[in-house]
Amino acid sequence: MVHEVARMRERDGVSCLMLPSDGAALERASALLRGGELVAFPTETVYGLGGDAGNDAAVARIFAAKGRPAENPLIAHFADFEGAAREVEFDDRARRLAELVWPGPLTLVLRRRPESRISLRVSAGFDTLAVRVPDHPLALALLRRTGCPLAAPSANPSGGLSPTRADHVMEHMADKIDMVLDGGPCRLGIESTVVDLSRPDQARLLRPGGYPAEAIATVVGTLSGADGPILSPGIFGVHYAPRLPLRRNARRRQTGEALLAFGRGAPKSGPAVRNLSSKGDLAEAAANLFDMLHALDQPEFIGIAVMPIPDTGIGVAINDRLRRAETSS
Ligand code: AMP
Ligand code: MG
Repeated sequence: MVHEVARMRERDGVSCLMLPSDGAALERASALLRGGELVAFPTETVYGLGGDAGNDAAVARIFAAKGRPAENPLIAHFADFEGAAREVEFDDRARRLAELVWPGPLTLVLRRRPESRISLRVSAGFDTLAVRVPDHPLALALLRRTGCPLAAPSANPSGGLSPTRADHVMEHMADKIDMVLDGGPCRLGIESTVVDLSRPDQARLLRPGGYPAEAIATVVGTLSGADGPILSPGIFGVHYAPRLPLRRNARRRQTGEALLAFGRGAPKSGPAVRNLSSKGDLAEAAANLFDMLHALDQPEFIGIAVMPIPDTGIGVAINDRLRRAETSS
């Protein structure tokens, strides 16, 4: 019985179910989503806050639950390429990239088809839509069973740390949503790479992420930065920030600080220290990043010092998140 495996949290008279991912939980999650409710679910990147992408009211609830500005568009998630191709126009470059990476941590911003049934709120007033097929068995099973695309930004309050475990979602969103599907920790732990291919003459990297930009450039040619007239609202402002101030490129921690370390020879893990990867492995560091920031973001510290992270491969995405967290503190 679902109730026997459910962990229920009651806060302020509101309850949110956190269920391990068995068939009954999936069925329940799909029923909630079809009814316009919100369900957080794991992907290979971070936990998403899902709602029926074709339902205006459900999409409005996502913005409200996150406290996300209405002008910051959402990513629509699909079970397969064909589902995405019904809503947006793929040119050759976009099709080749999707074939190469999907299911996987790449989001493509493409022009909406005029007949698309995706809520215009998902696009936040742009004539484009961000689409992705996630590489997670539970996310794909949920998409198939629900039978509609899911708008799913990261399942955290706007501007805060992204969740990479069901517990992170419960901690910050339990009173705003209806259910969390618990699929354990996210494999990659960092958000998708976002590439804008909506203009035939341009390929723009809007957000570095779990799929390396270098590999994208081999398919689309030169990738430009996120300058120019159409900007991605989510690349600005306070983002990915812990509550505590963050200090990057620190060699050691100062009195009262917690330390997010990296690599061999760094101080050993303890109550005030976490090492992203003692082997110096950037994939391991990405997978640990948000979980360790959540763990160190405690009131007994005055700030979080972060050791330097190499700016190569997925390290580019890690440094992007840390830079924004630092700017906003
Ligand atoms: P999140 O859903 O929180 O992982 O963030 C999604 C990211 O994709 C944000 O940075 C958005 O601004 C960006 N994004 C989503 N849709 C579009 C779009 N149509 N045009 C440009 N950027 C987009
Ligand atoms: Mg986010």
